Amino acid sequence: MNKHYDVIVVGAVSMGIAAGYYLSRQGVKVLLVDAFNPPHTNASHHGDTRVIRHAYGEGREYVPLALRAQELWDELEKMSYLKIFSRVGALGFGPKGESPFIDEAIASAKEFDLSIELLSSKEISKRWPGIAIPENYEAFFEPNSGVLWSENCIRMYRELAKVHGADIVVNSPVEDIQTYEDSVTVVTKNRN
Ligand SMILES: Cc1cc2nc3c(=O)[nH]c(=O)nc-3n(C[C@H](O)[C@H](O)[C@H](O)COP(=O)(O)OP(=O)(O)OC[C@H]3O[C@@H](n4cnc5c(N)ncnc54)[C@H](O)[C@@H]3O)c2cc1C
Repeated sequence: MNKHYDVIVVGAVSMGIAAGYYLSRQGVKVLLVDAFNPPHTNASHHGDTRVIRHAYGEGREYVPLALRAQELWDELEKMSYLKIFSRVGALGFGPKGESPFIDEAIASAKEFDLSIELLSSKEISKRWPGIAIPENYEAFFEPNSGVLWSENCIRMYRELAKVHGADIVVNSPVEDIQTYEDSVTVVTKNRN
């Protein structure tokens, strides 16, 4: 098959299928290609859920990105007949004074005015009887974070990308990408 597209996305799961959806929604002619049939068991979306946190121990500069991502997940949830996001909250804890990750997450929440609760080990055990942490630990709970139903997210983006005109080719590993001055040819195991 020789067809022409504005954008060809190789890998049509978490990143690729979302990119394909948003591009096709803007009127871009998109082809998505995957070695398997998304959602599938051979990539990192596999399984029921993935956590999304807003307070970021990895660095406060991620907070605006996480909040924007949350807006888009909430938008997807409204369009979806499948469950996309469960706002179950997220709990973080570590030894007080020895947990740069927890300290940064708390600082990031304060800087961006996120809703968090600072909790002692006793308060945690009272609220979640299955969790027991040492008394010298610091902990925080962010109620607005939660889990994404990752395979459903991919199912919905795939359906919506198709609605907006994206083509998807599955079970077709890309074997070569030939680049020319003003175009590329993507060669798959099964066809071009
Ligand atoms: C165990 C685990 C737990 C995680 N937990 C979380 C979490 O709680 N929260 C969070 O935000 N993130 C989490 N992550 C990370 C998150 O899941 C990944 O960052 C994300 O799913 C990556 O998606 P991706 O689309 O970039 O890549 P991948 O999932 O790696 O997908 C790559 C895709 O490309 C396709 N592909 C590869 N080569 C070719 C080829 N030659 N031709 C055609 N197709 C090809 C593959 O088939 C696959 O579908 C976790 C990851 C793992 C593994």
